[in-house]
Amino acid sequence: ADRLITPARRGEDMDAALRPKSLEEFIGQKGARDNLRIFIEAAKGRGEALDHVLFFGPPGLGKTTLAQIVAKEMGVGFRATSGPVIAKAGDLAALLTNLDEGDVLFVDEIHRLNPAVEEILYPAMEDRALDIMIGEGPSARSVRIDLPQFTLVGATTRQGLLTTPLRDRFGIPVRLQFYTVDELTLVVTRAARLLGLVMSEDGAIEVARRSRGTPRIAGRLLRRVRDFADVAGAATVDARIADAALNRLEVDALGLDAMDRRYLMMIADIYKGGPVGVETLAAGLSEPRDTIEEVIEPYLIQLGLIARTARGRCLNAGGWKHLGLNPPPSVQD
Ligand code: ADP
Repeated sequence: ADRLITPARRGEDMDAALRPKSLEEFIGQKGARDNLRIFIEAAKGRGEALDHVLFFGPPGLGKTTLAQIVAKEMGVGFRATSGPVIAKAGDLAALLTNLDEGDVLFVDEIHRLNPAVEEILYPAMEDRALDIMIGEGPSARSVRIDLPQFTLVGATTRQGLLTTPLRDRFGIPVRLQFYTVDELTLVVTRAARLLGLVMSEDGAIEVARRSRGTPRIAGRLLRRVRDFADVAGAATVDARIADAALNRLEVDALGLDAMDRRYLMMIADIYKGGPVGVETLAAGLSEPRDTIEEVIEPYLIQLGLIARTARGRCLNAGGWKHLGLNPPPSVQD
């Protein structure tokens, strides 16, 4: 769906311009950053490749950015691919045998690898070797090819989507969290500076508050706010201009858009607050279940507007309130 606030990637080059280039420059995710710094120092001290890293968390929180930073801080090369792109075992073999010593191989959407490809990834990760079958029938034999030391950096929206054997082979699992408004204010201020935009602090806070805890969305909203400011001839982007622009874009005070509100409204109106199954909601909204679970729901849960229960999704008191409706008596504050 074409949503302004979708955290999904769109216009890769735009993202690239705002990417922090070092751990130092990277805002937020303090726990993850502190740990990575130690593991990188230790690996460098021993002259080894960094252990394999798995980044997981909702889209747009900085997984690709951190993967690039890991390579930079390790002083090694960076190669990027994604799970669905690697169709055959041979494609992965070609990628792996072309790596230089110590390289980072970044695999986005690693939960979408096909099983035959995943199979050859296990020995590659564990023993840094490839087992290749040569020939067919009775004369077939397996040959082992040694690989350079390398670090696999995987990214996925949910850790639970990975098979257990794959998940177990990552020595460094890192969970990324939604950003706080304070952190996003820093992200917005930095991005404004890079875009050559004069912004007041309250302007940056306004954009940050409405960016769903997600730097990619903050960058996108900021560009749109800049368009409004340019056309309005405003020299400085303050909270008033940011608010007017975001209202025009139908991004509400919590950063929710029409899609989120349709989702909430469906639970409220048709299912009387739930519980309602995700498949039912997906059908009603004509959105794939994955989009609902990975893009729409995580932030609504984070805000406490809805709850995921064993019997389905329920609207919390905050959700009713956000819609301007009175919750039924069964929903407590
Ligand atoms: P993901 O791989 O998790 O989908 P990306 O790494 O592609 O997310 O980041 C999306 C966008 O957000 C990029 O433009 C990046 O520059 C910006 N970004 C992500 N994390 C940060 C951060 N900590 N500070 C500043 N900008 C960030």
